Amino acid sequence: MVEGHNKDISINDSKSIPDSKSNDLVSWIRSLQQALTVEVDHGFINIQGRTNKFSYFVSGYLLSCPSTAVKQSDSSKLKELALDYKKYSTMSTDERRRIIVQTRQTLHNLYIYQENGEKIDSKNLKIRLSHDAFAHKRSLSTDSLGLGTSISAIKGVGPKQAERLSSLGLILIRDLINYFPRDYVDYTSLKTIDKCQVGQNVTIVAKVRRCSSFKSPKNPNLSILELFIKDKTGGMKVTRFFAGRRKSSIAYLKSQQSLYAVGATVAVSGLVKESKYGKSLNDPLIEIIDSPNSYLKSKSIGQIFPVYSLTEGITADKFRDLVQSILFLTSEIKDPLPKDTLIRLDLPSKKEAFFHIHNPENPKTLANARRRIVFEEFLLLQLSLLLRRELHKKRHSPQLSIEVSSNSLVRRFLSILPFSLTDAQKRVLKEIESDIVKAEPMSRLLQGDVGSGKTVIAISALLTAVQSGWQAAFMAPTEVLASQHYQTLSKWIPQLELNVDLLTGSTPKSRRKEILTDLVNGSTKIIVGTHALFEDPVVFDRLGLVVVDEQHRFGVTQRNKLLNKGLQPHLLTMTATPIPRTLALTLHGDLDVSQLDELPPGRTPINTQLISPKDKNYAYDLIRSEINKGHQIYVVLPLIEESKKLELSSAVDVYHQLSTDIFSDFTVELLHGRMKSVEKQEVIRNFLDKKSDILVSTTVIEVGIDVPNASVMLIEDSDRFGLAQLHQLRGRVGRGASKSYCLLSHQNKNKLSRQRLEVMVNSNDGFEISEIDLRFRGPGQVLGTRQSGLPDFALASLADDADVLELARNEARNILDSDPILTNNSMLRSLIKEQWEKLKIGNKLN
Ligand code: ADP
Ligand code: MG
Repeated sequence: MVEGHNKDISINDSKSIPDSKSNDLVSWIRSLQQALTVEVDHGFINIQGRTNKFSYFVSGYLLSCPSTAVKQSDSSKLKELALDYKKYSTMSTDERRRIIVQTRQTLHNLYIYQENGEKIDSKNLKIRLSHDAFAHKRSLSTDSLGLGTSISAIKGVGPKQAERLSSLGLILIRDLINYFPRDYVDYTSLKTIDKCQVGQNVTIVAKVRRCSSFKSPKNPNLSILELFIKDKTGGMKVTRFFAGRRKSSIAYLKSQQSLYAVGATVAVSGLVKESKYGKSLNDPLIEIIDSPNSYLKSKSIGQIFPVYSLTEGITADKFRDLVQSILFLTSEIKDPLPKDTLIRLDLPSKKEAFFHIHNPENPKTLANARRRIVFEEFLLLQLSLLLRRELHKKRHSPQLSIEVSSNSLVRRFLSILPFSLTDAQKRVLKEIESDIVKAEPMSRLLQGDVGSGKTVIAISALLTAVQSGWQAAFMAPTEVLASQHYQTLSKWIPQLELNVDLLTGSTPKSRRKEILTDLVNGSTKIIVGTHALFEDPVVFDRLGLVVVDEQHRFGVTQRNKLLNKGLQPHLLTMTATPIPRTLALTLHGDLDVSQLDELPPGRTPINTQLISPKDKNYAYDLIRSEINKGHQIYVVLPLIEESKKLELSSAVDVYHQLSTDIFSDFTVELLHGRMKSVEKQEVIRNFLDKKSDILVSTTVIEVGIDVPNASVMLIEDSDRFGLAQLHQLRGRVGRGASKSYCLLSHQNKNKLSRQRLEVMVNSNDGFEISEIDLRFRGPGQVLGTRQSGLPDFALASLADDADVLELARNEARNILDSDPILTNNSMLRSLIKEQWEKLKIGNKLN
């Protein structure tokens, strides 16, 4: 992500972390390097960052160089470049590439200059290099090379190399050590081709004999590279797949083809499969090596060979040798974790981990090294989030008193309910109550699968606030859901004698005025509403609690807007969109999480089936027989109106077809987001009151709608939806005691999307489903947006490292329990400062 440089990060006492001018410059250079790298990686598209386009950001950023540390001529070069970037959007790709190369060169010069106090011409450089070469030989005993030394001081690294490396963001030796291999070739499973057996994972070293590439005949975004490799014992076919627009472009394929040119020696690692051409390897790791014995040459590396992502002009062997030559410097790495912690958690020291990540002795040392590094990544994030929460809690909030007497509002409410709370509901209610009596504001996320009964919890929390003399707000993302909550409340509130109001975008003006007045003078105790609630005219007398339903539908800023209407109200956010715990901890690590992990009793699991076009009549028969039993039906579609391009059915079409033809003997109604609010209300009212049998709808019913009598949901073109969304939709049925069905209709074309849908058939558990979705589609997709606020990890994977994340979370708590703002651990403190810079949360602290 392209982001601005933030100089105002402070973690209370910034004096303990010295920031010299030159460090300013180095971090300025690096942020820019990163932005350039991102742009290059995306093929010079002038990528959109969080706030600005790349060119706009760079143009401004170039002028913000900490200028005292820069020579006059360089500073005017920067100004020149800044002007050039203003024209970036109109430049051709070649021009864009050229100006980025120029920028990189300028940055590199700045860097050298900063390090040596003068610009070094190539003659000087030779002298310096030969001097350094000498120093390097002695460096085991002296310390002329250090983690903070420039890479150009390493023996054998000339200015050209240094510049190429700087384009990978590698400037200091420390950067090299932090540049983790993207993969490993495992020579412990080295085999000759004749010894390879189907089903084995093998590594083969062989020469390329043929190489060809072509586009997949079936999929324009997939291309295929085929190699035929040979060693002394035989030959074998190797196939690599490249997916995505950029990677299947002709240019990219050409570059791959020249990489694996005939005669090149490669190491290939993967699973042996049987194909019609004999044994073959599908999508293995392929690494170019200098010669068949190249891995043996490098005596310092063990049998597990690191593979790095490289830039043009640096060979893999050269880069590996370079890293290996400075690996002894890992001994300088200081550990932010004390020895006893490492022993307790069975983790290697940071030194060992960094050494072994580049030079693993065996799979075990590699796994341990990785684990240690991932642990620290997670630890820093969790510490940051927990610290941020602590700071938040320092502010005072309304102390709500919990009356346990039997005539308290909450107890009276619970006694009116026609059911008793589940154990999970009781537990969560206790968790919330114990937060609310504290002086610090609650920040709690309530996660509960669809139908787990979150509304009852929300209402109890609202009543707790009211009975302590505060006002409470209940916010929902859609009008439909807000008015449903309002009706639910209205059912019980008359018996509790409270003033409750509903405020949405479609509240009539005159009514709106009354509501606002009642809020200011404090006579309204509970307000339910939509986004209308955080608009400016809404002012509270004493806002003590905010409950946000389906919180993922709101942005953090929107939520904060409502919170700011009180002094420091308690916050309860609720979500049924199941996100895996790893994502929850990463995104909401500063919230306490309560889990409703139990459904109310008496529900029969929903029977979910995949329906292909030929099964349509079966679906219609089922619907008919369910309606005849007195039940109601949802039919859900991805589109409102017909789209020629997508060949999907639309809600309007299906509504006409069902109401005039197939189910003309029943009452069919239509609901979609573009209808007027009053119309929507009426349609939902009718469905609730059983005046209609079938509701044809778009995903507007996805959140919250609660009609226990509905027993079938037919979802058309279901492969168009994400699994989490399907699970939400499915949650609209199965709310009563009778058996319910979810029919996932699909066009039956694509095997992978069928497999994905089958997850729905096999699981009714939202968390399990989202866990699988995470594996299928990656975190960005699961959250539905690329800018989801997830930090980039160097090594950690949210899908694979869940256990390490838990470990880190616990340890972060331990550390802060004994040292709440890390006064005794300056190293962690400064690492976290960096982390906050990455997360851009620094200035929100004050
Ligand atoms: P969600 O967690 O999806 O928001 P709701 O709060 O809408 O779920 O609850 C789903 C249904 O379950 C509602 O009809 C609600 O009245 C009912 N319900 C909630 N708690 C219980 C319980 N303890 N026993 C029986 N039914 C319950
Ligand atoms: Mg709900």
